[in-house]
Amino acid sequence: MTVKINENYLLLKSSYIFAEIAHRVDKYQKEHPDADVIRMGIGDVTRPLPKAVVKEFKNAVDEMGQADTFRGYGPEQGYDFLIEEIIKNDYTPRGIKLDNDEVFISDGAKCDTGNIQEIFGLDNVIAITDPVYPVYVETNIMAGRGGPMGEDGKYQGLVYLPCTEENDLVPALPEEDVDLIYLCFPNNPTGTALTKEQLAKWVNYAKENDAIILFDAAYEAYIREDNIPHSIYEIEGAKEVAIEFRSFSKNAGFTGTRCACTVVPKELMGYDGEGNPQALNPLWNRRQTTKFNGVSYPIQAAAKAVYSPEGQKEIKESIDYYMKNAEIIRESLTNIGLKIYGGVNSPYIWVKTPNGMDSWEFFDTLLDKAHVVGTPGVGFGPSGEGYFRLTAFNTLENTKEAMNRISKLSF
Ligand code: PLP
Repeated sequence: MTVKINENYLLLKSSYIFAEIAHRVDKYQKEHPDADVIRMGIGDVTRPLPKAVVKEFKNAVDEMGQADTFRGYGPEQGYDFLIEEIIKNDYTPRGIKLDNDEVFISDGAKCDTGNIQEIFGLDNVIAITDPVYPVYVETNIMAGRGGPMGEDGKYQGLVYLPCTEENDLVPALPEEDVDLIYLCFPNNPTGTALTKEQLAKWVNYAKENDAIILFDAAYEAYIREDNIPHSIYEIEGAKEVAIEFRSFSKNAGFTGTRCACTVVPKELMGYDGEGNPQALNPLWNRRQTTKFNGVSYPIQAAAKAVYSPEGQKEIKESIDYYMKNAEIIRESLTNIGLKIYGGVNSPYIWVKTPNGMDSWEFFDTLLDKAHVVGTPGVGFGPSGEGYFRLTAFNTLENTKEAMNRISKLSF
């Protein structure tokens, strides 16, 4: 009776959304066993790992089974052979100079975006865009930064930056004084991206207000338009104010394989209690070396193969495939008069529900009338109410079929 729990966990809203979706779909399928339900709610890739990646993955596993090539613990920060490929391919061509020890390999952007808050004080004010990838919110609640949830569905200690039809899903700069700002572009769930000019406003805001941006670039590979930055460091001065998260999940199908990286530039500073600047790079290094033992060698070898010419060709084919689906979704929904966002630089399409339906009403309508499952926008935050997320992660055939069915509905 004396072990106390971390009561912040009790403040978390139960993540009912995906359970509720599963429940409603199960119930529907039981009542309509012949209905061929198409799932367009998933945020997981569906195409397999590139062959070039699998080949290196297997080779590396073989190396682990030979005495002369076996490797035990690797560097917690990742092997230089992968870090160098990331810098050479993802950053140098964009004019961004990084040293190897500014890039930390990990097993996912989920863990890194969730863990990064540990190196910051508990009294920092956190800003999040709304709707949002829930990991940013919930990890801060667990740490004690968010306080209880109000009746409006918002944690009272967080600053919400609404992204709705009214602002074309472009978040406004905060009016409050905020310290840490989570930005994710191209965005999950809205599928929208920020132009260089729009992102530069955030970098300037952070500089002027001594804030730090935590920039999640997990969907960078889906960017199609020229004026959309692939890295926040394309904006001048961003290295002084931003940490960037990348992932091999959505570009190369590593969702079940697990490899990602986080960039913490050496010039990025926080402040100690006496107001002295403290570099964040050594803090993150310390966090990782204490709590993380690195990503396995075969997985890092596999990730390196993403950058081989064959790997690049294959990942381009997969992304083109998904983006073709996105285009079909965009076109079909626009043709029947729905207002949609995203799907141009991202695999997500954010639909404004018609006729003032709420997110769940639209969910039930699509399930019942078209046998198509998506994700109610309200599950991503209060500003997601009245919106709905569809994803391009499906087969071309299913996507076409789903759109045929939806196109026959009238709203
Ligand atoms: N960041 C965003 C915005 C995501 O949508 C996701 C996964 O859906 C992740 C991070 C997780 O990436 P990873 O698979 O590298 O953990």
